[in-house]
Amino acid sequence: MKRWFLLPLLLIIGLTFVNGRIHAQSTGTQQHLIQPGDTWVALSWRYGIPQEALQNSYKHPNQQRQPTIGSTLLLPDTGREYTGQIVRVNEGGLLATAVSHQTSPWKIAAINGLRHPYRPTFYQPLFIPGGTEPPRDLPIGFETLELSHLTPQPGRGIGFRGITTHPISVTARLDGMMFDSFGNGRYHVSLIGIDDFYANRQPELTIQPDGHPLWSQPWLFVDGSWTYNEITLTGSAAAITREQIQAERARLFEIWSQATPTPQWTTPFQLPITDYLSISSLYGARRSYNGGPYNSSHEGVDFAAYGGTAVSAPAAGTVILAEPLTVRGNAVIINHGLGVYTGFYHLSAISVAAGEKVARGQQIGAVGTTGFSTGNHLHWDTLVAGQWVDGLAWLEDGMDCWILAGLGQNCESP
Ligand SMILES: [Zn+2]
Repeated sequence: MKRWFLLPLLLIIGLTFVNGRIHAQSTGTQQHLIQPGDTWVALSWRYGIPQEALQNSYKHPNQQRQPTIGSTLLLPDTGREYTGQIVRVNEGGLLATAVSHQTSPWKIAAINGLRHPYRPTFYQPLFIPGGTEPPRDLPIGFETLELSHLTPQPGRGIGFRGITTHPISVTARLDGMMFDSFGNGRYHVSLIGIDDFYANRQPELTIQPDGHPLWSQPWLFVDGSWTYNEITLTGSAAAITREQIQAERARLFEIWSQATPTPQWTTPFQLPITDYLSISSLYGARRSYNGGPYNSSHEGVDFAAYGGTAVSAPAAGTVILAEPLTVRGNAVIINHGLGVYTGFYHLSAISVAAGEKVARGQQIGAVGTTGFSTGNHLHWDTLVAGQWVDGLAWLEDGMDCWILAGLGQNCESP
C-alpha cells in the first residue's frame, strides 16, 4: 500500500523543481558580493531597485542593519547598473558639493527628490550620477575603503585602509575592540589583532572620522581551523606558577599595548629561523596540560631546532626588550612600529641589547631551552594592536606590504 504514495510524491517534487527553474529564469536574479560601502542606499542607486525591496530580501531579523561585508545578496536582475557617487553633506553644504562635482544643486535636488536644494537633512546620503565607478556609501572623508580580508578568520592580524580627501583622524572599532589607526597625509590604515578564540560571526565594523557621524557595517567572519597538543610538564617547567605567568604577561602587555606611529620595516617580513627541523606547534593550537581540558591555546609558532641555531629579525625594528624572563627564558622583543611586535623566547644566547635598531635578517640570538620549555626550540610570537596573532598567516597574507601600500610607501623586494 505504501508504494502508492511514492509516485504522486515524486511527481509533485519533479513539478516543483521544474517550476522553480522556470520561475528563476523568468524573473532573473544576480548575486552581489557585499563590499564595504555597499549599504542599502548605495545598492538601491546602483541597481535602480527601491531600498525597501532590497531590505525585504535580506534574511536578518533586523532589516535596518546594513548588509554584511563578505556575504552574498541575491538581487532581482534589472539588467542595468548605474555609476556615480554617494555624498553626505550637512545642511548648506549642497551648493559647494554641486560646484565641486560640476553640476547644479537643483539637478542634485531633483534626482534625490529633495524639495529644496539648500536644505538636505543632517548628512542625508545624496546620489550624484556620473563617472565609471558604482556608488559606494563610505565614511565621511573616505574616497576609497579597502579591507585586508573580505572574510577574516580568528587569530589574524587584519585591517582596513583608505585614501581620504584630507588628513583625517578616525576612531575605529570591531564590536567593542579598538583598532590602532595611522595616517600619512591622505593615506589611512587601521589595524587590529583578532583573538584565536573569537567567536562572533558578524561583528560590526564602525568607523568614526573626527567630528563626523559614525559609519557602520557588519563584517562576515569564518571559523579558523586548529590543531591540538597534549603537553606533559615535569621538573622545573611544572613548578612555574600561575602567578609567575600572570606577572610576566602583565609586564609584557605594558610594552605590547604601545603603538609607535611609523612603520620601521620597508621589505616583506621573513621567518626568524631558516635552519630548523620542523614546526612543532602552530599558533592557536588548543592545549591540554597534563591531561587537563583544552581551554588554552598556543600564543606563537614553535620551531624545533638544534641548540645554538641562529635566530634573526624577521623585519627591521627596534629591540625593546633583551633579557632573561622567568617563563619565556632568554627573550628578545622587537618593535616594528604601528603596534606590530615580534618576540623570540627560550634562547640560549642573546646577541642584541634593548634600544638597538636591527635590520631584517640580522642575528638577534640563538635557539635554546631556557625558561618554561621542554627541549630546544624557538617560540616566536607576533602581536598586532596588543593581541597575539598567527605570524605565519601574517607573512602569507602579505600584511607587511599591504600596510605599507596603504600608507603610500614602497615595499621593496629584499
Ligand atoms: Zn611555543
